[in-house]
Amino acid sequence: MAKDNSKRNRPNILVTGTPGTGKTTTSSALAEATQLRHINVGELVKDKKLHDGWDDELESYLINEDLVCDELEDVMEEGGNIVDYHGCDFFPKRWFDHVVVLQTDNSVLYDRLSKRGYTGSKLSNNIECEIFQVLLEEAKESYPENIVVALKSDTIEDISRNVATLTDWVKNWLPQL
Ligand code: ADP
Ligand code: MN
Repeated sequence: MAKDNSKRNRPNILVTGTPGTGKTTTSSALAEATQLRHINVGELVKDKKLHDGWDDELESYLINEDLVCDELEDVMEEGGNIVDYHGCDFFPKRWFDHVVVLQTDNSVLYDRLSKRGYTGSKLSNNIECEIFQVLLEEAKESYPENIVVALKSDTIEDISRNVATLTDWVKNWLPQL
C-alpha cells in the first residue's frame, strides 16, 4: 500500500545525473554538512548483489530495481537520506522531497570519464546522455516539477555552492503536516 511522507522528520534527497557529473562527491560533502545518510546505490547494488549479473556490452551490473526498492524502503520511510544514482524513474515518487540533477559541460565530462577509464561506446553513450539531458527529462517525468532542480557541476566552486545551497534547503525543510 502506498504510504505518504507525513512521518518523515528529515527529508530525503535524490542526487542524480549522468555518470561523472559529481553525484558521489556532492552527496558525500552534503552528508557531512547535514548529517544526512549518503546512500550510493551503485555501491549498494554491488555489495548486496541487488543485480541480475554483469552486462558485458554495457560494462556494468544489470540493476534489479525491485530488489533495490525493497532494500531501501524502511530507511527511506524513516527519512534523512541522500540517494546517489544515475537513474531515477524506478524509485517510488513518494520517497523524495527534493530531486537534484547535476549537469556538466560536455568537454569537461569527456575528460572526467576518460580519466575514469571509460572508452568507446561506454564513453560516447554517457556523453550523449548528458547532451540530450536524459536524466533531467527522466526526473521531470518521474517527480513533481516543483521539487526537481538542475545544478551546474563543472568546477570545484560549483560543488561548494551546490552543497551550500542544498544544506540551506535541508535546514529550512519542515515535515509535511
Ligand atoms: P559521479 O558520482 O556522478 O559519477 P563523481 O562524484 O564520482 O561523479 O565525480 C567523478 C570525478 O569528477 C571525480 O574525480 C570528481 O572529483 C570529479 N568531479 C566531479 N564533479 C566535479 C566538479 N564539479 N568539479 C571538479 N571535479 C569534479
Ligand atoms: Mn558515483
